[in-house]
Amino acid sequence: MESAGTEPEPERCPPAQEPPVSPALPAEEPERSEAAPEPQQEAEGVPPPAPVAQGRRPSGPGSKGQAKRCSAGKGGRGKRGSTRRAGEEGGRPARRAHVTVDSSKAKTSLEALKISLRQLRWREFPFGRRLPCDIYWHGVSFHDNDIFSGQVNKFPGMTEMVRKITLSRAVRTMQDLFPEEYNFYPHSWILPEEFPLFVAEVRMMKESDPPWKPTFIVKPDGGCQGDGIYLIKDPSDIRMAGNLQSRPAVVQEYISKPLLIDKLKFDIRLYVLLKSLEPLEIYIAKDGLSRFCTEPYQEPTLKNLHQVFMHLTNYSLNIHSGNFIHSDNANTGSKRTFSSVLYRLSSKGVDIKKLWSDIISLVIKTVIALTPELKVYYQSDIPAGKPGPTCFQILGFDILLMKNLKPVLLEVNANPSMRIEHEQELSPGVFENVPSPVDEEIKVAVIRDTLRLMDPYKKKKKDNQNCKLSNSNFSMASVDILYIDITRRWNSMGLDQRESGMCLQAFVEAFFCLAQRRYKSLPLHEQVASLIDFCEYHLAILDEKRLVCSRGMTERRAELGTCQPDGLHLTAATHAPLLNRMTAANKLTDYRNHRS
Ligand code: ADP
Repeated sequence: MESAGTEPEPERCPPAQEPPVSPALPAEEPERSEAAPEPQQEAEGVPPPAPVAQGRRPSGPGSKGQAKRCSAGKGGRGKRGSTRRAGEEGGRPARRAHVTVDSSKAKTSLEALKISLRQLRWREFPFGRRLPCDIYWHGVSFHDNDIFSGQVNKFPGMTEMVRKITLSRAVRTMQDLFPEEYNFYPHSWILPEEFPLFVAEVRMMKESDPPWKPTFIVKPDGGCQGDGIYLIKDPSDIRMAGNLQSRPAVVQEYISKPLLIDKLKFDIRLYVLLKSLEPLEIYIAKDGLSRFCTEPYQEPTLKNLHQVFMHLTNYSLNIHSGNFIHSDNANTGSKRTFSSVLYRLSSKGVDIKKLWSDIISLVIKTVIALTPELKVYYQSDIPAGKPGPTCFQILGFDILLMKNLKPVLLEVNANPSMRIEHEQELSPGVFENVPSPVDEEIKVAVIRDTLRLMDPYKKKKKDNQNCKLSNSNFSMASVDILYIDITRRWNSMGLDQRESGMCLQAFVEAFFCLAQRRYKSLPLHEQVASLIDFCEYHLAILDEKRLVCSRGMTERRAELGTCQPDGLHLTAATHAPLLNRMTAANKLTDYRNHRS
């Protein structure tokens, strides 16, 4: 496993030769204190297969290197490592139990999950189980089931948080605070409420820069697979036709100079594991997918605006183009591995280390923007002290590279497709599902390594840190008025009211407002940081006075990337300068929690 923030190495690990980790995996399986599985497990679950290696055999120098690294890691543990290499020594202690996984709600991710579980030799319960399982794998949402223990592969509220409007709002909050750090997200407006602002801002920009001929992309909120998306040249082209109210949308600056390969626009689907919110732990898959358009790209003009095969990279759209190329080779075709793209770029002299590091920081910053509200959802759905599962989630990040290689975030998917087959048209209008080796290579590795990272029998680090914030010394009357005003305004927007009182966005707005009033001359992020410090200071005094909290006030540090088992295709994501900034986001959440 590489250390945090390193780039993939396509030269040494060409995608077609990426080794499955499975041959060495049994050595990774931790000891479980109990004896062999209870009889019921045997009766209900699918027993793990014999310890043979799954998937393609490693070949080539890159693969060897990875396989070696895997077993070398075990060597350090002495006898245990050397006796458990399934498929080589074949020795498996009789008393080792298996992690149990409920796959009954896995939906379209089922095939990839099954292969991963076979590789890990974990126990699958395809029809659920009377006893609790260690892991519950849900295809769609956290609310698919009532679960009181174990781990579930969805966070409450994630689907809501990554909808186009909510994501834009969350990123914008951070853009207000750290405009330069968050310039990877296109300028966006939320419709219908910001339509007048959109019109006014575009007019202003055009006036100040007459040669500017922008294009905008309109994306319905909650849409996916390119559904309902269209390009416009002028705000007046927005299809108001009475449906903006019923279908809110985001309108966004269109990136008109994307990086092209073979004259085609493409985007990147990267898989990101949010392992934990507290401490914040993020892993990024070393490889992802690149989805290509099927018509040569031209900068948008009134004539070509409607050509979806030229402007939209969605697989679900381009598959219907006569030019779509299905390929079993990861380096060619309309869907390729991202590492093959990096390999190609690197052969042209592109600094892929920098590119990868820019992508990692985009991912981390995006997760940071989502974290405060995710914590609110989490605490509301799984309140501390009540029985409930812990959560993790694989997210799909869609990223576009600009011609100058700057990565731009397009969107985040809470339920990225984990299908490992694609539709093929046998005869006109008759489709059949056939295996897709490129999807299988990438997605099975992502699921398998996610499971390995979530292995419940691995030792967990404890987070004992705590953070409390108190109120400021504003007059209570003015704070009350602000509270009432802002709460009323946000509630009238009809957003999901999971709790009474102020929602998180309203709280953030109120907090910013108080900070601006108190620290007038500073930039916004310093105003907010100062107010947080101020609150913390007063809380510390309060704590001291009351002698309630023996630990006093501890500033929480978000912890990233602590666990790096060898051979994983997921890289722990770290970004040191960001950690300090993240503290602010965490503080905001904590303050909200203490208020309620
Ligand atoms: P959906 O969820 O419907 O797929 P996306 O936001 O991913 O919506 O947009 C669909 C496609 O449109 C993307 O894959 C990309 O090719 C293109 N696209 C989206 N936003 C932009 C943008 N701001 N600039 C250029 N192309 C974009």
